[in-house]
Amino acid sequence: MNKPADTAALKQLDRAHHLHPFTDLHAYAEQGGRIVNRAEHIYIHDTDGNTMLDGMSGLWCCNLGYSQKQIVEAVYRQLQELPYYNNFFKCSNQPAVELATMLSEVTPGQFKHVFFTNSGSEANDTNIRLVHRYYDLLGKPEKKLIISRKNAYHGSTIAAGSLGGMAPMHKQVIGLDYIHHINQPHWFENGGDMSPEDYGVQVARELEAKIDELGEDKVAAFIAEPVQGAGGVIIPPSTYWPEVQRICDERDILLIADEVICGFGRTGKWWGSETYGMKPHLMTFAKAVTNGYMPLGGVMVGDKVADVLLAGGGEFAHGLTYSGHPAACAAGIATLNVLKETNIIETSATEVAPHFQRRLREFESHPVVGQVRGQGMFAAVELVKDKGSRERLAPESAGAVFCRDSANKNGLMVRQTGDAMIMAPPLVCSTGEIDILIEKLGIALDETAAHYGVK
Ligand code: PMP
Repeated sequence: MNKPADTAALKQLDRAHHLHPFTDLHAYAEQGGRIVNRAEHIYIHDTDGNTMLDGMSGLWCCNLGYSQKQIVEAVYRQLQELPYYNNFFKCSNQPAVELATMLSEVTPGQFKHVFFTNSGSEANDTNIRLVHRYYDLLGKPEKKLIISRKNAYHGSTIAAGSLGGMAPMHKQVIGLDYIHHINQPHWFENGGDMSPEDYGVQVARELEAKIDELGEDKVAAFIAEPVQGAGGVIIPPSTYWPEVQRICDERDILLIADEVICGFGRTGKWWGSETYGMKPHLMTFAKAVTNGYMPLGGVMVGDKVADVLLAGGGEFAHGLTYSGHPAACAAGIATLNVLKETNIIETSATEVAPHFQRRLREFESHPVVGQVRGQGMFAAVELVKDKGSRERLAPESAGAVFCRDSANKNGLMVRQTGDAMIMAPPLVCSTGEIDILIEKLGIALDETAAHYGVK
């Protein structure tokens, strides 16, 4: 195909041939969208000449921004040396071995093994396969049920979509019948007059009630994001995870932490599990493992599960052509090296994130802001018409869509989920760049207040 001469031609071809993920296909075919063609540091550029500060790190993945030469060069070198070989049939490759070793070093002590996939969705599918295999090997084949949470996001394959609790997805996915959902710890939405602490304990105990209802002898695992990301950056009350951990410790069920967004420093520590004191048996990762530069995901398999799989014998009948792809793993190694060499997780946690969180809280007095919540470089701003009653600006989250569009127009890439504005800026932002983000968000909030006549 000849390179399209101009933006209009490119957009026309995009509308004609490209079906986009999580998009109203009919509307997109009519209206088209933005074509991003260049990025550096924390800025993205489109073919219309717009520059935007990326307040979302791509899709929560480019935690180190867009100018990491070390990662690019590592991939280039690897493609020249060994572009591909599989890890089936008693074969391995050096980058996969090295990355597996490095991951076991940067994850909590119980993790010494990794199973590689290409994405977070496949990694969560892999979790189901691992959990079922584990209990089969233990002679407990009846333990097959998995408990997850409403409004969780665990990916888009049939299994990962079933694990997730997104209502619009469940309308389109025939969910797997061995997956059950309990409520999310969303105090602002569901906590009513309860204190966040009391609500946190109450909603955690839904796990205990669900295990009792289904039978401990049938429940295999509980899966959750330390902070629900795509669901709206749902920061759990401080009491939530300790209570869930107590329940998991007392019961014979596995805890799976989906760290696809929280991992690699997003919440201020390497892992969301560390920030919230969780002790998972399995941990899903993807996205920031390669800084978004190559597709890669996987499951960290804790000793409790790995010991059984290794002792059990027999084939684990699961794998992907690109499990442990050498170029993707080379990107992962380079990313981990940058994270370690620059100390960026610690720097962002101690310098930039506190500034980000403090500045965001200045919006608590803004007329359309009902709640600001966040942890590390991760935050949400809930929009309301009335702070007391938490009445929303408009039906179907139209207020937040307006605010998101206004922010985009003003050069800030942020996302809207429900009635909340969502942010996950790159960890490499400076405090000055956080101030620019805050200024642009402030303009969008002012425009939203003016549009809906809220004073
Ligand atoms: N788990 C979580 C927590 C996620 O946020 C996502 C992606 N947003 C996934 C799983 C799925 O990852 P992928 O899109 O790489 O399949």
